[in-house]
Amino acid sequence: MTEQMLIFTLGPVQGFIATARKTEDLWLGSYLLSYFCATAIQQVYDQSSIRLIFPAIGNQDPFDFWRRQGITTASFPNRFLALSTEQDPQENLLLLQQAESAVGTEFANMADQAFNFFQQALGQNWRWDSGAARQILERQVANFLQIYWVVSPWAEQENYQTNYAMAEKRLAAVKNCRPFEQTEEGGRKCSLCGERQILTEMDTWQQFLRRRPKYIRPNEGLCAVCLTKRVAGEYKGYLGQQQAEISNLTFPSTAEVATADFKAEIAENSEKAEIYTRFVDAVNQLQPEEKVSPVPKLQSQMEANIDGRWLFEESLDPSVWKRESGLDLDPAQMLNCQLEQRRLIDKVGFPPSAYYAIVQIDGDNMGSWVGACPNASSHQDISQKLVDYSSQVQQLVEVTQLGKLVYAGGDDVLALVNLNDLLWVLNDLRLKFPSLNDSANPSSSASAGVCIAHHKTPLGDAIDQARKMEQAAKGVEGKNALGISLLKHSGNLAQTVLKWSYPNPELNLIEISDNLIQVLNSNNVSKKFIYSFRTLFDRFDQQNQLDDSLIDLVQAEFQRLLLRASQAGQQEMVELKTADLKHLMQITEFSNFLNYLEIINFIARETKK
Ligand SMILES: [Zn+2]
Repeated sequence: MTEQMLIFTLGPVQGFIATARKTEDLWLGSYLLSYFCATAIQQVYDQSSIRLIFPAIGNQDPFDFWRRQGITTASFPNRFLALSTEQDPQENLLLLQQAESAVGTEFANMADQAFNFFQQALGQNWRWDSGAARQILERQVANFLQIYWVVSPWAEQENYQTNYAMAEKRLAAVKNCRPFEQTEEGGRKCSLCGERQILTEMDTWQQFLRRRPKYIRPNEGLCAVCLTKRVAGEYKGYLGQQQAEISNLTFPSTAEVATADFKAEIAENSEKAEIYTRFVDAVNQLQPEEKVSPVPKLQSQMEANIDGRWLFEESLDPSVWKRESGLDLDPAQMLNCQLEQRRLIDKVGFPPSAYYAIVQIDGDNMGSWVGACPNASSHQDISQKLVDYSSQVQQLVEVTQLGKLVYAGGDDVLALVNLNDLLWVLNDLRLKFPSLNDSANPSSSASAGVCIAHHKTPLGDAIDQARKMEQAAKGVEGKNALGISLLKHSGNLAQTVLKWSYPNPELNLIEISDNLIQVLNSNNVSKKFIYSFRTLFDRFDQQNQLDDSLIDLVQAEFQRLLLRASQAGQQEMVELKTADLKHLMQITEFSNFLNYLEIINFIARETKK
């Protein structure tokens, strides 16, 4: 039967996701992208002529599918692909036009509601130029979405592969012919995206802050698109009553993710929990109680709780307090908090880490995998495997480990993870990535980008780093790689890119890293260890691999330094657990190896119990 191939894509992906100052922004951006994709699919999924190939949701209503997956995880990719048996190309064009306009309408309605929400929040007596703001809103909303689609006629004499390739080619041509132009944006720029003009004067944003502090931070002014994103949880749309779940959702802060292992330690011990409760009470006397959003694994485990940032000494520094809240505090109360905090850290036995990780992973060569499908059902099989993968990811990140999933759809995953569980989340995400070639020896793979960042590092910078590291991993020959960037609070940056595994001798990066962390943490290795090790080898050519005689020397020196810091009788253990480092040096440039050591040493230090 003659068919036509329909591809629909939605963006700008980075415009939705990367513009984030709070973890909620990150989540809301992914949520919106998912919401709009589901909206588009909803226009086509129940047509008798349509067979949805990607994403594999069968002929379910996309919003029902999403509800079943759990709507608090964004789970739609930013595109869909379908086959249509409708012979008349005009009908297919109409269908996709309808999908496009449904998305446009939803976005406009959402923005409208955001505008009304904003206006109502200001109060009736507040004077502001709402007419000018309206105009800005209309311009910005009209220019934001980037939707491209194509209806590709089927060449009967050609096979599925060729037809698919032609459809993608046509889509690329449409994208090239119809670039979305950036209109000139004057005035003060939005605090979130930094691109578009703010909707109105800053004094009006101050008023909004006074009335609705949940949605805005001090000194923030937003454009219409970013305001719409911030209050998107208030919009019911196709989710109806279930929108309440989105509206009530608070997302763990970066400090909350960073301190999750510290809190897990408290949750497991009633004495520690008791001291923690006293600390929480003391802090709550300083300021109005705030809602805490722990990582899912800890959600039902803490009775009294407070955001992780309070666990850091600097939060209780009177001058920091004055600067951030503008309030003077009773010195006695402050001292009491500081004492309780110290007591708590002593009792737990290690200080909380200020660092967390952003993990981004996606399938390698997905275009080739899909492009090699001999027919629609094998294409659908791949889609199904990806849906199954996405469904498992939540379990991996949120139930077994201390992480919070932002997005899992198609072959993409984005998550925030506590450093203590980072290696294992990475390991699981990679291991569970499906075999796309139906063989016992899967040749499909996935690559990941990780940014380890301080909880106070601007979130946008950390996301950007994670994305860059994923791109760096994708640049490795044969891929199947992992790029990690350590973004220190001081601004220092260390980056390493390696493969998950290597053959002959068989090396597993996660295992090597875990062994190294064990050695570093079971011995009293000083903080400066890696730095002095680095300086020792400064004069070596670091841009290339070392030759074998040097590798032996470096390995011996590394082990010698480690042993010097170890208790007696550890020699065998140290040698065994660091034996594979030598092979890593044979594989990669020396500078990449040194950065790898620095990053693993950092993780070890931050997770030392
Ligand atoms: Zn903006």
